[in-house]
This record gives sequence, C-alpha cells and structure tokens, in this order.
Amino acid sequence: MASTTLMGGDLIQALTIHEGFERLATAIAPMVRTETLALEDALGRVLASPLISPIDVPAFRNSAMDGYALASPDLSGEPPYVLPVEGTSLAGHPMTEALSSGTAVRIFTGAALPDGADSIVVQEDTVRLDEGRVQINVRPSPARFVRPVGHDVAAEHELAARGATLDAFLIAAATTSGIERVNVFERPRVGVFATGDELREPGARLGPGEIYESNRRAIRMLLQGCPLDVVDLGILPDDEAATKAALASAGSEFDALVTSGGVSVGDADYVRQAIEARGSIDFWRLNLRPGKPFAFGRVGSSCYIFGLPGNPVSSIVTMLLLTRPALIALAGGNARLPSAFSAPLAESAQHEAGRDEYQRGRFVVQDGELRVTTYGDQSSNRLSSISGADCLFLLPGTQTHFEPGERVDVLPFRGLL
Ligand code: AMP
Ligand code: MG
Repeated sequence: MASTTLMGGDLIQALTIHEGFERLATAIAPMVRTETLALEDALGRVLASPLISPIDVPAFRNSAMDGYALASPDLSGEPPYVLPVEGTSLAGHPMTEALSSGTAVRIFTGAALPDGADSIVVQEDTVRLDEGRVQINVRPSPARFVRPVGHDVAAEHELAARGATLDAFLIAAATTSGIERVNVFERPRVGVFATGDELREPGARLGPGEIYESNRRAIRMLLQGCPLDVVDLGILPDDEAATKAALASAGSEFDALVTSGGVSVGDADYVRQAIEARGSIDFWRLNLRPGKPFAFGRVGSSCYIFGLPGNPVSSIVTMLLLTRPALIALAGGNARLPSAFSAPLAESAQHEAGRDEYQRGRFVVQDGELRVTTYGDQSSNRLSSISGADCLFLLPGTQTHFEPGERVDVLPFRGLL
C-alpha cells in the first residue's frame, strides 16, 4: 500500500515497489526503431519480429543411439532374432539405399534411418555374429530410439515471440534452424549522470569532505549485457542552473537518462526541481528501504528520466528492482519485476516497520535446506553490505520482528548464468 506523508505542505504519495513498477510499465512506450543483425552479433538483443524456424529440425529421421536399424514387421516370434547386416549409416554419411527386407543396418547416433527401417535396437541388446550377421536379443519398439522429422522443431514453428531476448539458448536454437539474420529493436541510448559536489573521479586526490564517485560505474556495469547503448555523462555539480541545463541538453539527445543523488529533500538536491522545470515528474518517492528518494519522469517530450538515490546501496537496489526492468521494457523487452522465490530465515531478522525493506542476505544451508540470513549492518551507504551478499530478501513493512524459519521472498543475485 502506498503511504502518504505531509511534507512542506504537499501531500506526497510514496509508492510500493509494485505500484512504482506499474507506473513505469504504463508510462514507457517501447522502442519502435528496428535493425537487422547477424545472429552472431545479437546476444542480449530484443526480437522485433517473431523468430520462425524455416526448416524441420531434424530434417531427416535419425537414430538416438548406436545400434542396428531394422523393420520390425520383419521379425516374427520371440527374440532372439538373427539378421544379416547389410550396410552402414553414419552421422553425415547416410546410407542412400533402402533397407532390404529381412536385414539390419549398422547405425550410429545422429545417422539417418534408411527408408524401410522403423526401429533401432541399441548395441547393448545385440551380439555381433560371424558372417556379417547380428543377433537381436529384444523385440524392438518402433519409434523408441528414432528421432522423427521435426522432433526438435517443426518448420514454421515459432521459436520465440517478438519481445523475447536473444540469450545463448535461443541463439543456439535459431542456429540449428539455419537462421542467420534477426530483426531486433535498436538499443535505446541511455545517459548516466552522477550528481554531487563531494564526488571525485577514481584516481583523483581526495580533498576534505570528498569521496570517490562509485554509482555511475555501478549503474553502467549493472546495465552491461542489457540491450542498451549506455553513455557515461559524468558528474553534475550541486547547482540548480547547471543541473537544469545538463538535463535539458541530454534529454534532447538520449532516449533515457539515469541520475544518482540530488533527488531527496536536502538543500543541495536539485534533480527533482530540474526534472519539473524541464519536463515532468510521474512519481517521486518509494515506500521502500533502501531507495526511498526515487523519481521517475520525463525531460523534454521523449526522454525518460530515472532519478536514483545517491546512497550507493539505494542506487543499486532501485537500479536492479525498477530501473533495469523499465529500461528493458523501453528496449522492447518483456517488462517484469524480478521474480522471487521463498526461503526460510536462518536467524531472526528485524527492521523498522512502515517501509518494505530489501535486506542484503547470504545463503546458508541448514539441515540440507537453503536458508537466508541478514548480511551485516544494513546502512544504505555501506557498499560492503551488498558486495559480498548473495541476494536481496524482503521484510514487509507491516512487521518488525521475524523469527528463524519464517519464510521471506528472496531475489538471488546470481544464478547459473
Ligand atoms: P544525495 O542523495 O545526493 O543526498 O546522496 C546521499 C549520499 O550518497 C551522500 O552521502 C552522498 O555523498 C552519497 N552519494 C551520492 N552520489 C554518490 C555517488 N555517485 N557515488 C558515491 N556516493 C554517492
Ligand atoms: Mg548529493
């Protein structure tokens, strides 16, 4: 549920993550520009047209095992049967003649079945006899080890719909269907700004009160592999006029902007005012910890802007939970919140009620079961609360104390890929 706070005379709605996501998904009009790419170059890109297999895969009946191909109606009575072996079919070297009645053909995995054969007997169920004969010890069941035409994919079958992302699996599937070029959406151009007078580039000497700027780099790296053309636009000073000018100029050049910092209620926070002055705010503030000061809107008429909080962990969490899925939607991809699984807490957990909190967690295995536990001090300035963590897990704002064994929603950072 959204919470309402009275601030500076304004009623300000702080949205839940789900409400925020709905607002983003409704507001964002996906990319329309498309381009054709070699499949080889299309990893991570979003399909602008459905991907259709032009051929049957496989295009010929073939054997799933090493063994013998035969025609089951040729076998009468109970096994064993003895048949002469006439011919061999190897992968890439099919036997071109049809099977002669009452004979067997030596066959290997992936080799074409000769016409007339309907069954494969696996090598382990046979004994090779002299004079080119084979003893078959079982009654074969037709089709058991035969891969029919189109077994993997039939011609004209849709491998993936418009909006699907070309991952390694889909690229492999398209390759096996003989597809070499794909129609994809162009990558939206995304500009990334940091804001703050205290921020210095890595490598610089730090003066009093200064810190190294890390959000821009984290944001760019979290967007790596996404179908986006991400451009680093540097650090903006805490200056209203400079912020307005920079957003207006970048807004005419980019499809989306991501900023960090300057979006809270401090005296040196100008990002929200600059968005309001040069465009419009769709929503500001999430009922979320970390990540409360988050703004979404537009600058100019066609550029979306995501104003992320400055605290490094808040900026990463709102990037992962909202901004990245929204940018993928902008890129024409399927927009969805990251999907959680449920796991029990290994230890008790607590937080201040009122806001949904995504704590950084570690996985532990207890009694053979995967559990999750809070990973250290959860202050949103501490990058060390996230850099060694395995996941985020949700403590709902309706409850302060959670017992060991209570189940929570978990978003793992890493999977198999
Ligand atoms: P702000 O939202 O601008 O008030 O920033 C909140 C906190 O995050 C402050 O302690 C800032 O110094 C810090 N911060 C803001 N931007 C960055 C950044 N790009 N890299 C590292 N820390 C930052
Ligand atoms: Mg700041």
